[in-house]
Amino acid sequence: MVKKIFRSTLMVALGILFLAIMLIMGVLYSYFAQVQKEQLQTETSLVAQGVNLEGKSYFNHLKVSGVRMTWIDHKGDVLYDSQSNAKKMDNHANRKEFKEALAEGYGESTRYSSTLTTKSLYLAQRLDDGTVIRLSVTQHSLLLLYIRMFQPFALIIILAIALSIWVARYTAKRIVAPLNDLDLDQPLQNEAYDEISPLLRRIAHHQKALSKQEALLNQKKEEFDTIISKIKEGIILLDAKCQVISINDAAQQLFQTDQTCLGKDILQITRDLSFHKWLKSGLAGQKQEGIIQFDKESYKVLIRPILFDGHVTGLVILLFDVTEQLQIEQLRHEFTANVSHELKTPLHVISGYSEMLVNGMVSSEDAPYFAGKIYKESKRMVQLVEDIINLSHLDETDQVPMETLDIYAIAKNVLDSLATKASQRQIHLHLTGQPTMMLGNPALIHSVLYNLCDNAITYNRDKGSVEVTITSDKKHVFLAIKDTGLGIPKEEQERIFERFYRVDKSRSRKVGGTGLGLSIVKHALKLHEATIQVRSQENIGTQMLLTFHK
Ligand code: ADP
Repeated sequence: MVKKIFRSTLMVALGILFLAIMLIMGVLYSYFAQVQKEQLQTETSLVAQGVNLEGKSYFNHLKVSGVRMTWIDHKGDVLYDSQSNAKKMDNHANRKEFKEALAEGYGESTRYSSTLTTKSLYLAQRLDDGTVIRLSVTQHSLLLLYIRMFQPFALIIILAIALSIWVARYTAKRIVAPLNDLDLDQPLQNEAYDEISPLLRRIAHHQKALSKQEALLNQKKEEFDTIISKIKEGIILLDAKCQVISINDAAQQLFQTDQTCLGKDILQITRDLSFHKWLKSGLAGQKQEGIIQFDKESYKVLIRPILFDGHVTGLVILLFDVTEQLQIEQLRHEFTANVSHELKTPLHVISGYSEMLVNGMVSSEDAPYFAGKIYKESKRMVQLVEDIINLSHLDETDQVPMETLDIYAIAKNVLDSLATKASQRQIHLHLTGQPTMMLGNPALIHSVLYNLCDNAITYNRDKGSVEVTITSDKKHVFLAIKDTGLGIPKEEQERIFERFYRVDKSRSRKVGGTGLGLSIVKHALKLHEATIQVRSQENIGTQMLLTFHK
């Protein structure tokens, strides 16, 4: 702007200077020409008087320089000329000033030289005898004047340019200075030029509108941030350069970062290679998803490109915790594999032995042994299928019908039904306690106690004992099943509740175990919001401690 003002001011100053010089020169030139003309008029009338009085002799003692005098008779023939031989001169009858003087007593005319650099002024006056006296002077033309004045003009113009430059620069700076000092944050507080008041008012108006919009945007952003910060799932917004625009608390925790990562490249918060591969595809406009591991937790990553006018302007990254889901899937997978494996073994035995019987490969004495094996394996299969059905029922239900039951009566019933099995190995069963009422599902409680007592007998030593003790307080019922058996190694105690998990596989199979009993116990107790604690010492015995809400 300073440059523009400077240039314009300079141009105007120079233009005015040039015009002024031209004009002044013109005016002065015409003024002096006029003065010269008036002088020549006076001189003409003086000479006319002199010739009138003295005739041709008047010229004899006349000494004039610069002025040419010509005496012309009434036909136009030159009688006398102060600069040339009169006889050799042309007839002047056609000269304008001569014709006018003859007609009106006075005449004048101006004639330029062929080069236009000089001009001659002719004044003529008619004398009493009808002759005409003419005086002329030669003047420089205005053009010559300009040409002659070029040098001083050039000097003046150079000086004027220097002065104009200084003035223009100074003026431009002075004009712009208040504009530079404007406080655009508070446009109405400025006291600059009146001319820019409307502009300042408009700026103020726009600023007001802008700050309103900014406040609205901030409010919306805050709302958005609050919402996404409350979401359990991780959310990250990236721009097209993969710089973080927004990241919620959940994602910050996962990537162990904070708000300082805003505006930075996502590369700085994760170096996971597959994640970067997905981002790349996302930027190419493709939807991406995969699993990423954070410590022990698995997260599903969804990457969705944000498209605007067919261009990717950013990416949304969503992170879902799928640890449990994957574990369940894994369990289901293992369960299916285990079930088929567990069923395959008895089926092989049954089909092998029955084939031998059918083909008469077994003698009649051995037949009962093979039949017994088939019976045992089929019973195990039935037990397995029953356990699987029970487990899948428990898997599907969140709630079971509850009623008031006497846990002591159930425990007694369970021990009664296991009495034969216990007596075969001379194991003593004891029940201590008294009728205790609590809320529960009778079938499930029965199943829990049966499985635990059955294990206490199965994994006991011969002639050992099983003690079932029922106690209670105001809110809880406590049940302890203590055996004198093999015990469970410390590191296995957690795992015995897993499906198909056995401490000693071959032994468990031999005794007809399915590996599902304690899983059923765990599930059934979960539905009762009850807990189970294992206390066991190898070769001394195991104690299962159950706590129910009354
Ligand atoms: P199983 O059908 O094999 O008995 P469970 O789920 O009931 O399956 O038990 C899982 C494993 O826990 C058993 O195989 C056994 O090794 C161990 N176990 C359960 N109860 C006892 C106990 N009272 N004493 C020793 N080991 C036990």
